[in-house]
Parts: sequence; C-alpha cells; structure tokens
Amino acid sequence: MREFGTTVFATMTRLAVETGSINLGQGFPDTDGPEAMLERAVEAIRGGLNQYPPGPGIPELRQAVSEHQKDGYGLDYDPDGEVLVTVGATEAIAATVLALCEPGDEVIVFEPYYDSYAAAIALAGAARVPVPLRVDAGRFTFDPGELAAAVGPRTRAILVNSPHNPTGTVFTREELASIARLCEEHDLIAITDEVYEHLTFDGVEHLPLATFPGMRERTVTISSAGKTFSVTGWKIGWVCAPYTLVSAVQAVKQFMTFTSGAPWQLAVAYGLRHEMEWVAAQRASLSAKRDRLAAGLASSGFEVLRSAGTYFIQADIRSLGFDDGLAFTRQLPERAGVVAIPTQVFYDHPEYGARYVRFAFCKRDEVIDEAVDRLKRL
Ligand code: PMP
Ligand code: GLN
Repeated sequence: MREFGTTVFATMTRLAVETGSINLGQGFPDTDGPEAMLERAVEAIRGGLNQYPPGPGIPELRQAVSEHQKDGYGLDYDPDGEVLVTVGATEAIAATVLALCEPGDEVIVFEPYYDSYAAAIALAGAARVPVPLRVDAGRFTFDPGELAAAVGPRTRAILVNSPHNPTGTVFTREELASIARLCEEHDLIAITDEVYEHLTFDGVEHLPLATFPGMRERTVTISSAGKTFSVTGWKIGWVCAPYTLVSAVQAVKQFMTFTSGAPWQLAVAYGLRHEMEWVAAQRASLSAKRDRLAAGLASSGFEVLRSAGTYFIQADIRSLGFDDGLAFTRQLPERAGVVAIPTQVFYDHPEYGARYVRFAFCKRDEVIDEAVDRLKRL
C-alpha cells in the first residue's frame, strides 16, 4: 500500500486549517442534517442502544433501506439477507472488492475515480483498468467503444459511480444501458457507488444500474447516509445485492469491523422513513449553491463545467493562465486563501485531468461568497 500515502482530502483539509483558508476541497457540508434525525441518535444513546448491533445491521435500518430501494426505484431486496449495513460506503466498497475479486482479476474504473477504489482494488491484489471520462459538450462522459475495449479475459467487475465524484456527471439512461449490456455480455459484476443518489439537479434523474434488464442479479448497489442527510461523520452505509453476493461481502466485512454505530443506524432508519422531504429541500438548496459557486468562479475567470449532481464542480484553470492543477492548488491557499482539489490526483493518466480543479459547493452561502471574493484576487 506504499504508493497510497495520505488521501488528498486529508492533505488538503490540513492545508486549509494550517493556512486559515476556506476549504472548498474535502466534500462535507458545513450545516447539520435534519434536527429530528439527530435527536433520534441522541435518544438512542440515552436509551441504552450502546452495544454491538447485529452484524448485518439493525433490522429497522435494513427494513428502511429495503423500502427506500422499493419506493424510489421499484427494486426488491429482502431486508434479511439482501441488505447489509456497513461503515459508510467506503467499507462497503472495500469489502465488496475484497469479497468478489481474486488476485490478478481486473476491475474497470472510470477515471477520474474516487480514491478509495484504487486502494480497495490494490488490497484485493486485483488490477484496476481505467477508462477515461472525457469532456464532450460540457460534461464528462465515456466512449462506449473505449469501455468495451477495456474488457479482457480477467475482467471481473466494473465499478460505476453515478452521480460521479469528482466530475458532477450523472450517467444517462443510454450510458448506463451500454454499461449494462457489457456486463451481461461478459458476465461481469457491477459495483455501483450511489452515495450522491439524491443530489441531482435540474430535474436530472438518478438511475440505479440494478434497474436495467438483467442487472439486479449481478449488481452490488452501494450507498450511504453521509451525503443524503449531511452527516458525513456518521459513516453509515449499506449494500443491496442478491443473497450470495451479500453473504460474500458480509464474510469480509465481519472481519474488518464486524459492526458499528448502533445509535446512528437507528437514526438513519428514521431519516430514510421520515426525512425525505428534508432531502428534497436540501437538493434544491445545493442546486442553488452550485449556481452560486459556478457564477462566482466564472466571474473570477475560470471556465466552469456544468455539474448535474454531487457536491462538486469542475473548473478549467487554463483561462486563468495555468495548466497544472496540482501546482495551482498548492499555491491557491497562499495566493487566495482558498483550498481546492486538483482533479489529476484521481487519474492513472494525470495529464488528462491536469487542467481541472474540483471545488465543493456544499457550504453556507456566505462561505461561498467569501471564497469567490478571494478567488477574484487571482
Ligand atoms: N464514494 C464517493 C464517490 C464519495 O464521494 C465518498 C465520500 N463522500 C464515498 C464513497 C465515501 O462514503 P462514506 O463517507 O459513506 O464512506
Ligand atoms: N468524499 C469526500 C470527497 O470526495 C471526501 C471523503 C474523504 O475525506 N475520504 O471530497
């Protein structure tokens, strides 16, 4: 694991703290989740829910996740055996890759990819095969031919993240259908990271890959509460998949953490059942924040790409006379008192992402405005 070092998020957050900069790097909101849901966690602690919850997760949460998949997407998962609660999506991803990939297997990822994918694949002794997302008509997308060409005899799985961090792309029905066809044709497992499933804008719809024909039986669907309810520190995630896949993932998960977070599990079950209106309001608020930051970045001289979902926006720095996002973000705290993430760190081919920088807009309006004022110094 030597090549992995410290995550870019930890590094950049430390830089923000050290330099007193505004942190538009690591994606976490600076306001709290729904009050009644927070209260449920407090009550659960005071009520004595402080010992190990069951390995697969407390029944209330597995039931609530199952209902969420059914009500939102028409997907049926048995809460007893097809739903597994994890320590955030991060553990779910790692446990799934470890459970389903043998040393030497290949896992396809779209680059730029979320950093933990590369680490999970390396832990399994598998190899990542990156397929680039390229900018076309103002959004990052892939070439289906390039994706098909990435499949080989050792390909075991494809990791699909939509809405996509760090680009803000939400895959369309056609894009997902082409992934689904490939999975069927080559008998691949799809591992989907849907942590931003509720954070899509402008009426863009999130479509779980498991809803496509033939996909439910070969898809491990992963999500978590962190982004949906603005509780990234709670680390409550889940896996939905057919029995055999879930039991394989659980076999690994039980030796990583066994279980965690009993009071938060109960609170998230409450959130999924009673706070979806709050989530809708949050989506509207985030959409306005995206517009606010996009307009601010544009007025500071960046060329801004359209983000259809997530917490993030991509800005092209060439219009400001820079061409290396890594150097740019290293200087940014000193030059402007703002921290951002260089997109190139999410690539095997950093040159593809060198001109882009990721800014997070999940912040209070006054924080966004202050960051924009500071960026005007550039
Ligand atoms: N996947 C993506 C795409 C993410 O952006 C994040 C971080 N927010 C995670 C997974 C990790 O989720 P969690 O905090 O639930 O472990
Ligand atoms: N998902 C968050 C982001 O992309 C960071 C999570 C982390 O710090 N590992 O910014």
